[in-house]
Amino acid sequence: METREHIYVGGEFIPSTGNGTIEVISPHTEEVIARVPDGTNADIDKAVAAAREAFDNGPWPQLTPAERAGYLTRLAELITGEMDDWARTISSEMGSPFSFSQMGQVYASAMVLNYYAGLAETYHFEELRTGIMGPALVRREPVGVAAAIVPWNVPLFTTVLKLGPALLAGCTVVLKPSPETPLDAYKLAEACETIGLPKGVLNIVVAGRDVGAHLVSHPGIDKVGFTGSTAAGKLIAAAAGAQLKRVTLELGGKSASIFLPDADLALAVPQALGSGFMNNGQACVAQTRILVSRDRYSETVDALSEWTAAQVVGDPLDPATQIGPLVASRQRDRVEGYIAIAQKEGGKIAVGGGRPASQSKGWYVEPTLVIDVDPNSTIAQEEVFGPVVSVLAYDTPEEAIRIANNSNFGLSGSVFTADVAAGIDVARKVRTGTYTVNAFALEFAAPFGGFKQSGVGRELGPEGLAAYLESKSISLPAGTEVPGVPTV
Ligand code: NAD
Repeated sequence: METREHIYVGGEFIPSTGNGTIEVISPHTEEVIARVPDGTNADIDKAVAAAREAFDNGPWPQLTPAERAGYLTRLAELITGEMDDWARTISSEMGSPFSFSQMGQVYASAMVLNYYAGLAETYHFEELRTGIMGPALVRREPVGVAAAIVPWNVPLFTTVLKLGPALLAGCTVVLKPSPETPLDAYKLAEACETIGLPKGVLNIVVAGRDVGAHLVSHPGIDKVGFTGSTAAGKLIAAAAGAQLKRVTLELGGKSASIFLPDADLALAVPQALGSGFMNNGQACVAQTRILVSRDRYSETVDALSEWTAAQVVGDPLDPATQIGPLVASRQRDRVEGYIAIAQKEGGKIAVGGGRPASQSKGWYVEPTLVIDVDPNSTIAQEEVFGPVVSVLAYDTPEEAIRIANNSNFGLSGSVFTADVAAGIDVARKVRTGTYTVNAFALEFAAPFGGFKQSGVGRELGPEGLAAYLESKSISLPAGTEVPGVPTV
């Protein structure tokens, strides 16, 4: 049993102002594995004050980008060196299979930090433009104090998607992790101590949504970076809008994987389903609708069924496990509810659909394949956030694109085909923020984010850094040169 009694504010572990406790419950054993303080509004006030002080009066924004990048590199090194330890923590608190925790939760997080450290070398924080009226020095300055609010499904990764660019930009940060996954956030606080991050640059208060709402509307916050549900994203956008705060929202998805008639099933099936069931299906980018040509429908359903039925379900800490439990019993209820609705609306269960007999405890749902799904049905329209993948038939590639676009979401997607040019053509027509031809991938040097109700703004790539910067233009007398600043 791990017990934490402090919040992390101003570079110190200090007591919470409240006496509430959050219990962290293992999704596998259903037992309490840790207790941490339930952060309060007053804790947030302290954290914002510390971040404000570090931004307004501290050295952090005055360091060079290269100096700030050095901290990111050290943090990435530390996380990589302790990868299994971090992976065990995340698997224990939220049930992610250990092998996914290693690569998808931890190593990927270090890669993002390293990417932003590297970007310091090429990004133009200042540039001189020749201009029309005369030369202009264009500066990119930190937006200020950023609030980072993250969900439980990829807690460290969604944190570094904000922390990497925010710190490189020169912002200071208040992080509010989810109550389900506080333990990796405490490790992050300790890691910041180890690398000697200046006091107040990162402050962490674990709390629920009401305290999150207090953070969003706090006058000391200049920018909100949020990852979570579309419902919460709308509330946060409204609250941020009332104060004209900058906001980036990474929200839900219902992404489609199109198998064109010439798709190689040996490639397409593991890639699409690997993404659909990734992290026990609790992934915003999961390919949860598989669109199959009617000519190859039964052959493809057989291949998809065989792959799904072969998944190893079990203890998330067992390295052999491919599908672990859902994060909470309420999440299992939600997923089971969607499976029931899918059947009521005409979907047929090809594989799974219930609780695995092998698990006497834990919030497990079998990997489930629903076939013959109507594109307008609930299971094809709403984000389930569990190990449930739907199969839909189409007659022509044009119809497949129409079905893919028949969604309020637009986060990810993929197409499988022997003709890469045809795949690119499909990619251009699907209204979504990230897309892959003949694989499932997320490229860290390219922008990541959603069309439609999947979000506002972008993380990753230089675009993710720009989200933590304000542009300033300084018009200069004709003929002025600024040493060390490139002319573009
Ligand atoms: P959630 O929206 O309930 O909570 C996310 C975080 O926001 C938590 O820390 C929560 O305490 C906080 N929160 C909730 N309401 C708030 C409010 N009104 N003001 C301030 N903070 C608030 O989401 P969840 O159930 O924890 O996570 C699952 C959702 O996250 C899914 O919809 C998933 O698609 C989405 N997600 C999106 C991405 C992406 O990059 N697009 C990545 C991962 C998860």
